Amino acid sequence: MTLNPLSLSQFPEGQRHCCQPMAEMLNYYCEQHSEPFECPDRLIFYSAKFDEYGIIIHDGSSVYSVIGFCPWCGAKLPESKHDRWLVELDQLEFQNPTDQDIPAAYLTMPGIKQKNEVAYPQAHSLPCE
Ligand SMILES: [Zn+2]
Ligand SMILES: [Zn+2]
Repeated sequence: MTLNPLSLSQFPEGQRHCCQPMAEMLNYYCEQHSEPFECPDRLIFYSAKFDEYGIIIHDGSSVYSVIGFCPWCGAKLPESKHDRWLVELDQLEFQNPTDQDIPAAYLTMPGIKQKNEVAYPQAHSLPCE
């Protein structure tokens, strides 16, 4: 039995994101806006916590629309771990994780991965492309 391939593994080896434009967008540093959601030049947001990518909706709030494919290179992006995150934290008695002091392992994606290997031994495989 193989473990669920980690989401990063579908990107070229050593690359955190699928392509250069995506990486540049996510590493973009704006001197005027410290928050990505405040900067009109930022189009994409990456949530390490949920391992999901989204298009920023610039309506003054911190909202983004999750996307499944890269708008530049078309690469399949990792499936959001948001639901899994909520389910696992619920099992740990965190019913309102956004308002609660959750385990550090759930603050970033690597923690999700580790939990994933334990809690989801039969997780479905991502299609190989
Ligand atoms: Zn800006
Ligand atoms: Zn890309």
